[in-house]
Amino acid sequence: MFTCPHCGATARTRTSRRLSELTIRQYHQCQNLECSLSFTTLNSVERVVTKRIRCDDVPPDFVPRDAFPASHYGDNQLSLAV
Ligand SMILES: [Zn+2]
Repeated sequence: MFTCPHCGATARTRTSRRLSELTIRQYHQCQNLECSLSFTTLNSVERVVTKRIRCDDVPPDFVPRDAFPASHYGDNQLSLAV
């Protein structure tokens, strides 16, 4: 939520337009009836903080060991789930 750059009141986001894959322009309107200023902001990805392993980086038959409870593997294969 942004504040109005003119009067400091709360501004409501009215709509947005995608400018690129990583950038969106948002249109805001001041909620102060005596001001009602409309303005835009740019919302873009600044940097990646974490990155997960891509699906094609692991074998297609890969199943994490903790994907299922131990009971899923049965009593004789309990060591697979540990
Ligand atoms: Zn305002």
